[in-house]
Amino acid sequence: MKQGSIGVTTENIFPVIKKFLYSDHEIFLRELVANAVDATQKIKALADSGEFKGELGDLTIRIEADSEAKTLKIIDNGLGMTEEEVNKYINQIAFSSAGEFLEKYKDQLSSIIGHFGLGFYSAFMVSKKVEIDTLSWKDGAEAVSWTCEGNPEYEMGKGTRTARGTTITLHLDDEETEFAQRGKIEQLLKKYCKFMPVAIAFGKKQEWKDGKYVDTEEDNIINDVEPLWTKNPKEIKEEDYIKFYNYLYPGSEEPLFYIHLNVDYPFHLTGILYFPKIKDRIDVHTDKIQLYCNQMFVTDSVKNIVPEFLTLLHGVIDSPDIPLNVSRSYLQSDANVKKISGYITKKVADRLEEIFKNDREQFEKKWDNLKLFIEYGMLTDEKFCERAMKFFLLKNCDGKFFPVEDYTKAIETMQKDKDGRLVYLYATDRTEQYRHIEAAKNKGYDVLLMDCPLDPHFVSLLENKLENSNFARVDSDIIDNLIRKEDREKPQLSDSETDELNIIFNKVMPEGSHYIVGADNLGENGEPVVITQSEFMRRYRDMASIGGGMNFYGELPETYNITVNVENPLIKKMLEEKQDSCGEELNDLSSKISEAEKTRKDENGEDTKDDDTVKELRGRRKDILEKFAEGNTLLHQVTGLALLSNGMLKGKALADFIRNSYEVVGKAFTK
Ligand code: ADP
Ligand code: MG
Repeated sequence: MKQGSIGVTTENIFPVIKKFLYSDHEIFLRELVANAVDATQKIKALADSGEFKGELGDLTIRIEADSEAKTLKIIDNGLGMTEEEVNKYINQIAFSSAGEFLEKYKDQLSSIIGHFGLGFYSAFMVSKKVEIDTLSWKDGAEAVSWTCEGNPEYEMGKGTRTARGTTITLHLDDEETEFAQRGKIEQLLKKYCKFMPVAIAFGKKQEWKDGKYVDTEEDNIINDVEPLWTKNPKEIKEEDYIKFYNYLYPGSEEPLFYIHLNVDYPFHLTGILYFPKIKDRIDVHTDKIQLYCNQMFVTDSVKNIVPEFLTLLHGVIDSPDIPLNVSRSYLQSDANVKKISGYITKKVADRLEEIFKNDREQFEKKWDNLKLFIEYGMLTDEKFCERAMKFFLLKNCDGKFFPVEDYTKAIETMQKDKDGRLVYLYATDRTEQYRHIEAAKNKGYDVLLMDCPLDPHFVSLLENKLENSNFARVDSDIIDNLIRKEDREKPQLSDSETDELNIIFNKVMPEGSHYIVGADNLGENGEPVVITQSEFMRRYRDMASIGGGMNFYGELPETYNITVNVENPLIKKMLEEKQDSCGEELNDLSSKISEAEKTRKDENGEDTKDDDTVKELRGRRKDILEKFAEGNTLLHQVTGLALLSNGMLKGKALADFIRNSYEVVGKAFTK
């Protein structure tokens, strides 16, 4: 029996391994199985090249968990190791100053461990003792056994294996005995090894017999050695892609589309990405892409490898060229990673454009579930945005789809304003904004539907991209103001008349919001009162509410514009009633106010104004107008209807309005 010391420059690597890798200790299994896979592939390669002339035999890798003995075995029929090789590959850990290195990269260790020849030693994260029993393929080789108890001393001697290959036996730490449990190992094999390229058997398949499960003769193979992404896309059917998706994400809804990635130069990358259905934020699940390296699971967090919007996709990426031995922040600036992420973005755009061109019907049918993803991509990725402008679909309120360019052409003649700006009208809710949509349609305009949570941002993006254009929500002003055709004659009201309207209407509007009242000529048949909310105010509030960082606007009270149509007969009648009930009083007050507002010279010859008197007179005028407003049925009915049609009457206000309306109707019909 030989004894020796493991060749690590640092004092003792074992405490370091245990300490730093504690949180992720389960990856030891991946590392040991990956080594078994390597060894198996190497013997196959030796057979292919003719160097190895013997029988390959059964190459299945076997995992055996013994919960009573608290051991776990990984057994392969790979190429095995000679004593010299054990010395070289196991005893001399192949890099200098392991401790210093571990200290520096402790955060990334779980992903890099396999790439620095430390894979095998991860066994010590969970074991108090590790044994290797190995027989090399080489002629005349003898079995070697190696034992180490988690300290720098090891023992080497004669092994017991009679068949080529390697058996690794872990004697688990007392706190780690879960790794001898069948359920735990099954779960880990599913997570890390389900696509490894050599068959892995974990016990036997079981069947139900005489009231209990019993082993059958058949191996329980836990992996698919030829996963779909490794196959030639030409030989794969549509349903195979769907089946694979269901295998990856059991119970998920069917994906919309898929992309098969396959590139050899300038880097190696294969994989399949799926577009999931996404309607709103509840559907958004990132971290659904699994990253593999030669069919070995590495991570399901690809954040720094693909552009952020692509993390909304699902599926598998397999590339040996994604460097895992560097820090995560460095990844983003790595040239290979940049190329890879550029490639994937381009592929995604290619695929979408292809479907857009060749199967518009399908593209339109799936658009509602695809739109959020595309908008997110366009908002966050300049290159993708450029490509997507070609296949982005605008949907109007009648449910018709248009590519952006076609839509622009369609509205060009009708929706240009007097200054030559093209106005895109849009609604966010077909039901709530119905009247405004109809008003626009009656003018021959078209109205887009923008009801996606990202649309407030997206509208700004389109305004930037489309020259000399702007977007206006259809209820943000009366339609003639949204697309101004010529300078319209506005009613000429004096300051005090404007002030009067302001007082009257503010009195009867619901409390809690802010109202800006103005007069306009909307014709005899135009509605008496139109309530709108300015595009600017609303957009900033919307952005604040989806977290645009502009919270100042989010805290302002709602502001509405009230347009009073002074050509409407009902408004005329209401103003007459005002004249009849308090016209004289108001006239009287008005002249007193203008008198008091005049500046005069005081005894010292200085200019002076009687501010207190003005204030007092104004207050009296306000009282008179408010009293009139309160008691005027016509005013209540007209504003009530305007509020009602905007969906702004709720609760008590709505109940009051309905009761009053019955009274009005009653008076008209029961006389
Ligand atoms: P890596 O796999 O990155 O080389 P490891 O620490 O996992 O690093 O393994 C070190 C070396 O030990 C391997 O390169 C291989 O030569 C040898 N080795 C480990 N496990 C086996 C095995 N099951 N069969 C044959 N050789 C093995
Ligand atoms: Mg390894």
